Amino acid sequence: MNLKILDTGYCQSLEKVAIKGGRLKKIQFPSIVALIKHPKHGLILFDTGYSNRLFEASKKFPARLYSIILPPVQSSIYSVVDQLNDIGIKAEEVQYIIVSHFHADHTCGLKDFPNARLICSSSAYNHLLSLKNSFEAVKEAILLDLIPDDLENKVWLIDADDSIKQTQDQHLGVLYDIFGDNSILINDLPGHLTGQIGAIINTNNEQYFLIADACWLSDSFKKNILPSSLAKLIISDFDAFKQTLNKIHLFHKANVLTHIIPTHCRKTVKHHVLETQNL
Ligand SMILES: [Zn+2]
Repeated sequence: MNLKILDTGYCQSLEKVAIKGGRLKKIQFPSIVALIKHPKHGLILFDTGYSNRLFEASKKFPARLYSIILPPVQSSIYSVVDQLNDIGIKAEEVQYIIVSHFHADHTCGLKDFPNARLICSSSAYNHLLSLKNSFEAVKEAILLDLIPDDLENKVWLIDADDSIKQTQDQHLGVLYDIFGDNSILINDLPGHLTGQIGAIINTNNEQYFLIADACWLSDSFKKNILPSSLAKLIISDFDAFKQTLNKIHLFHKANVLTHIIPTHCRKTVKHHVLETQNL
């Protein structure tokens, strides 16, 4: 099994917001996607990052608020579907997408992969269904126009599927072994947004832990440093966020060889985009 990290573009914000003690300086927050090639189950994506669909979906009020508050740099956008095309992979070949959570910077490509089943948690799915209109959604950084109309037929709610084998990690708790072969282990990462999940990926020779937005910069999980209180505005449950970060920190100390990958950390992305160039 192989894994490749794809960078789909970035937005900019103050480092100080993302991590306590950070600089009062604007830094880039890329949004990455992982492309996984499973020998039996084919191509799998972890999230779908940015694409130009974001600008289309946020043209009108109230969705427009998203592109006012957290606009990605348009010239930096290179959608995952275009990147796959450029390396000879058709959108139809993607079998699964693990949706860490439904924030717009992770869901721009969900409509681009017609055959993919969408793996998410029941709480993320139910939370999405509970949003009554695009105003309620945009307040949570969700753009409803990015969500496929036939979502109901596409989702695979892993925690509601009794046939999935469960194992335990000392620090992370329950792991959902979705294919029963220890290749992809999904776990809950509550705090950032209701129902957020991460994934441990065991490739041929490495272990990766994709932690989505459980923290934004690698120093956070390495040193167990929280974001600033300003970031509470975009964190749905700060206590749960704190506990999740602590669990990842302890997991990191116990598994130093595992590559832990936050979705928006430029330092991590630079390193892994180079390292995983060949799928
Ligand atoms: Zn994000």
